[in-house]
Amino acid sequence: MKQKPKSHEAVWGIAGMPDILPRNQAYWRQLLETGKAVSELHDFNFMGLSAVERYEIFENAFGSDRDVLERELFPLKAGKMKAALRFSFRESVLRSFIDNKLAYFAYPLKVFYFGPVFRDVQTDEYFLRQFHQFGFQVIGEADPIYDGEIIIALYDFFKSLRLANVVLKIGSSGCHTCHGIFKHKLQNYYRGRLKDVCKTCARNFEINPFLLLSCNEEKCKAIRLEGPIIFDYLCQSCNNHLKSVLELVEDNGIPYEPDPNMVSTGDLNNRTTFEFRTPEMPYPLAFGCRYDYLSEAVFKRQIPAVGANVGVERVMEAMKRQNVEPRFKSKPKVFFLVIGDQAKKGALKLMNKLRLSGVAVVEMVGKKTLKAQIKTAERMGIKLALLLGQKEVFDGTVILRDMTSGIQETILVDKLVEEVKKRLNNE
Ligand SMILES: [Zn+2]
Ligand SMILES: [Zn+2]
Repeated sequence: MKQKPKSHEAVWGIAGMPDILPRNQAYWRQLLETGKAVSELHDFNFMGLSAVERYEIFENAFGSDRDVLERELFPLKAGKMKAALRFSFRESVLRSFIDNKLAYFAYPLKVFYFGPVFRDVQTDEYFLRQFHQFGFQVIGEADPIYDGEIIIALYDFFKSLRLANVVLKIGSSGCHTCHGIFKHKLQNYYRGRLKDVCKTCARNFEINPFLLLSCNEEKCKAIRLEGPIIFDYLCQSCNNHLKSVLELVEDNGIPYEPDPNMVSTGDLNNRTTFEFRTPEMPYPLAFGCRYDYLSEAVFKRQIPAVGANVGVERVMEAMKRQNVEPRFKSKPKVFFLVIGDQAKKGALKLMNKLRLSGVAVVEMVGKKTLKAQIKTAERMGIKLALLLGQKEVFDGTVILRDMTSGIQETILVDKLVEEVKKRLNNE
């Protein structure tokens, strides 16, 4: 027997590029509604960004992590121009900020956005080639208050979703000066211990010593405990910045853990680095950092910025594992049963009248028999149905059918909206 493909696999589609299916719509709607509500409360402006950017933007943005670019970016062609599918949002936000002169609109600019992100990775339960992010960015300010504001907004977001045991971890990547000094300290510490760490760490040491800070092998963790931590090497101003962020987080009653291993591997992120996790998930639900050097490296313009992204699919999975039911409940609906071709036209008019008055209407006019239509309505758990046949069209009436009791009554078309609303409100 052919095995059922796992959710991240595909038959005709591309593995790791799943569609959003109707059965998950309550989750998606709740996540989007919650994100929108939080953005509004914290005054972030919505931006829709192009999913395709010039290849060179990402080329510049990867800095010292070039191998990631070659492995994971989806290249494209736009006319004669080399382009790529969105790898992350922050480059697009900066590009749009500069191209559209958004500094005149607001400075700093606080934005939120939502959309798919594309990475050509080995797919499994947690990593997809196309996944969705919801994010906040503040462009144009280096003040720690904005790092704090983003953390607070994200915490509100997770709280509104009713996720339990959300853990916030905060670290720092320092600046070009102290990040560099710490790198030397790491190299010196590990150089004499390469035979004691795992093979991956020994190999990574040559590529990028910061990678050793995230190894999960027990022996590597033990060696790391004795090693240098960045908090001891931050320069005065990076230290002050971190202290201010932690104070803001504390003042707002958000529990957090300082994490000395949350140091960026690249040289374009700086200072605040943070993530939100829940115990059920092996990977973070959201990740954020400051990236004051990015704009200079990519666009030759110095623009400080900070931002964070929520992995929508991961949040949804965490909700499922915690049995958090999505709160998004659709409105009660009425089912419109239509008998015979002649009644269709009149039915559409009445459905529209109901919809304009705010009543959600389901129909299955097609070619289905009345029996099949009633069955569908029952399967959908619908409580109230309307019946329209040729006779009713002629008489200017509609039949109301209580789906639970099966009791029917005839009402005048003029009273339709009123009667339907009365019954829906009585439920
Ligand atoms: Zn520094
Ligand atoms: Zn290791």
